[in-house]
Amino acid sequence: MKVTEIMKKKMSFSFEVFPPKSEQPLEPLLDTLEHLYKFNPDFVSCTYGAGGSNAGRNMEICKAIKDSGKSIPVTHYTCIGNTKEKIREELETYLAMGVDHILALRGDFPKGWEGTRGDFNYANELVAYIKNNFPEFTIAVAGNPEKHFEAASFDADITHLRMKQDAGGDYIMTQLCHDVDQYSWWVERIRKAGITMPIDVGIMPVLSKDPTIRMAVSNGSAVPRDLAEIIGRYGDNPDDFKKAGKEYTVKQIHKYINAGIDGLHIYSLNRWKDVSDIIQAAGLR
Ligand code: FAD
Repeated sequence: MKVTEIMKKKMSFSFEVFPPKSEQPLEPLLDTLEHLYKFNPDFVSCTYGAGGSNAGRNMEICKAIKDSGKSIPVTHYTCIGNTKEKIREELETYLAMGVDHILALRGDFPKGWEGTRGDFNYANELVAYIKNNFPEFTIAVAGNPEKHFEAASFDADITHLRMKQDAGGDYIMTQLCHDVDQYSWWVERIRKAGITMPIDVGIMPVLSKDPTIRMAVSNGSAVPRDLAEIIGRYGDNPDDFKKAGKEYTVKQIHKYINAGIDGLHIYSLNRWKDVSDIIQAAGLR
């Protein structure tokens, strides 16, 4: 079944995982996946290192999800560093494995890169290529409720999102956004711009101080007052921080569900125990 068909019937529920580095074993992530499957995720997405650095591991994980028969694998895929020829080969490999859902991205530039060094400069070009050459894929695209950090304006960023829809994008997966009011404002703006794709909202569990700050900074994401208070009050005490962060994440999930969303996607950070606590406390499964 296609993720977009699931979203027409109910709010989809899913996880993101990231593959291990090439020298590390696969087993811990396979074990993590077994724990995550217990929550019956409609799909599990797997990240892909821009520049293709971990393409092999990504494929191993997507294949493992497919072979488990327990969820739909969605591969992330970036144009950075990828020629058309390489993209064709890799997309053929995914389809041969039965992986027919893809999050089509430009990717973040590895340090020191200028331009994509590949055949496509922006995600909309990759989306068009996939749609025209591999129509079997259901295509997700990234959306930024707080505007992509490189975009000159919201209008420009929304125009580019519309280009991804026009090129063949089927649904949106959102970037980290702690501010749910900002999300609702953005949804209104993109709907006015004729963007009709369903929206799968990404939730980043707040588990420790430094990554929480780092991710907000790197994505250009605001830190609302209640999260700033947790950072200020518990920043020096990892256990208390995690406890308060999990409670905060549960509240975020409820706020997003109340705002009306088509899908809830938890960036699992490969931490099934913490994620399980959050899901149970949120009463999701
Ligand atoms: P684009 O849509 O191409 O946009 C990039 C910038 O260019 C934006 O500022 C946009 O406004 C502008 N732009 C877009 N099209 C045009 C155009 N035609 N002309 C001029 N300007 C344009 N990164 C990874 O490397 N690996 C991952 O696995 C990964 N997973 C992600 C998962 C999710 C859910 C999200 C939301 C992001 C993920 N990313 C990942 C990060 C993503 O690659 C970055 O946000 C990247 O900087 C932009 O990717 P994009 O697909 O949004 O790019």
